[in-house]
Amino acid sequence: MNILISGGGIGGLTAALALHARGHQVTVCEATAQLRPLGVGINLLPHAVAVLAELSLLPALKAMAVETSALVFANRHGQTIYSDTRGLAGGYSHPQLSIHRGELQLRLWDEAVARLGAERLRAGRRIVAARMDGGQVLAEVERSEGGREEQRADLLIAADGIHSALRRQFYPDEGAPRWNGMMMWRGTSWARPFLDGRTMVQAGHRRAKFVVYPIAPPRPDGLQLINWICDRRLREDGIGGGLTAPSREDWSKPGSLDDLLPTFGGWRFDWLDVPGLIKSATQLLEWPMVDRDPLPRWAQGRITLLGDAAHPMYPIGSNGATQAILDAQAIAARLGETPSVEQALAAYEAERLPLCARIVEMNRQEGLDAILDMVEERAPDGFKRLEDVIDPAEVAAFVQRYKAAAGHRQQQQPPR
Ligand SMILES: Cc1cc2nc3c(=O)[nH]c(=O)nc-3n(C[C@H](O)[C@H](O)[C@H](O)COP(=O)(O)OP(=O)(O)OC[C@H]3O[C@@H](n4cnc5c(N)ncnc54)[C@H](O)[C@@H]3O)c2cc1C
Repeated sequence: MNILISGGGIGGLTAALALHARGHQVTVCEATAQLRPLGVGINLLPHAVAVLAELSLLPALKAMAVETSALVFANRHGQTIYSDTRGLAGGYSHPQLSIHRGELQLRLWDEAVARLGAERLRAGRRIVAARMDGGQVLAEVERSEGGREEQRADLLIAADGIHSALRRQFYPDEGAPRWNGMMMWRGTSWARPFLDGRTMVQAGHRRAKFVVYPIAPPRPDGLQLINWICDRRLREDGIGGGLTAPSREDWSKPGSLDDLLPTFGGWRFDWLDVPGLIKSATQLLEWPMVDRDPLPRWAQGRITLLGDAAHPMYPIGSNGATQAILDAQAIAARLGETPSVEQALAAYEAERLPLCARIVEMNRQEGLDAILDMVEERAPDGFKRLEDVIDPAEVAAFVQRYKAAAGHRQQQQPPR
């Protein structure tokens, strides 16, 4: 089939590679004229890494990423509440990768150029609208250098992110994304590795949370690129979503240290100097925590949604890029299994829409972060023995429930 993809982000490019591997002719239109490594860190869960491994990308990705060994939940004093073993040691078939989002996107783009042919990767082409025309899709494309053109395809996949033009065309009354009152400041700093140099930590509680993980192997001088996120709740009335975000969400909006140090300036852990790390940031971006309500349908005719265009969710539980990659794998697998494209799109949607809707809902209930709140409420000044504050078995059961609902495929429980 001749397949057109709108958006050369993580989801769109993975879909392009997966569809090409199944023999389809794929063209990607990316709005940005000049791709740059934008964004900071993201996490790819093992079931998404399995998809990329299937596309023979694992060696390249492992060389540029960190194989995450554990996800540690801690209080705002840096005391461990729960440590969840990740990757191979956690009983998964594949590693979990912490990686720079922009570097990953460029890597996927280069791989797509090599496999699909440079002429199939069209930068500076924004798909602004599409309609069915005689059994095919006719897309309207805006050129970055000016002017418009039309492009025909047997199928159009809209992987054009949280501000998807095609989603807006399908649901014109949907309005802006919903904000939960939380603002996130995302930064990267070069620093000495902390803990084992491969651990992701979430510390704090629902009003102020600090997430930190390394996203690249150490340099020769021993320093490692550390990704960190400071979350501050600016509005209490937004929990569960529903507020209008303070400004249009822009992944590249610069942030200010003055917004962080009054809250996080005193967070000095035995194993990490949080204010020191924040102050040495080489990049600091601000982003409101937004999502959208799950949709009743993703497809119209031979046009469907994928990734953030289909199910933007709070970045909790490492699900943003992961679920986009799983969408890509699912749509590639379903096409060809049924007599018609429309049936394949229905099968893709039946497989993916309810699961992603469930993650959107779980993340509105704070996902795994709810553990942090329980401990903060019961022991705001820290604890001597965790068992006096919370039953470790209760925490373990909570984590397992979230992971099962989010589609984790742990083959065996790790040794404890
Ligand atoms: C610039 C940028 C920086 C990001 N940084 C982070 C980060 O630091 N941490 C994090 O957790 N998540 C980040 N994200 C979001 C994260 O990449 C996604 O949540 C996740 O990877 C799902 O990817 P996606 O492919 O569905 O959407 P996205 O990654 O948002 O990709 C969508 C792509 O579509 C393109 N596009 C948009 N509209 C059109 C159109 N009409 N026609 C053609 N192309 C279009 C965009 O330029 C973009 O390349 C960022 C997204 C972007 C766009």
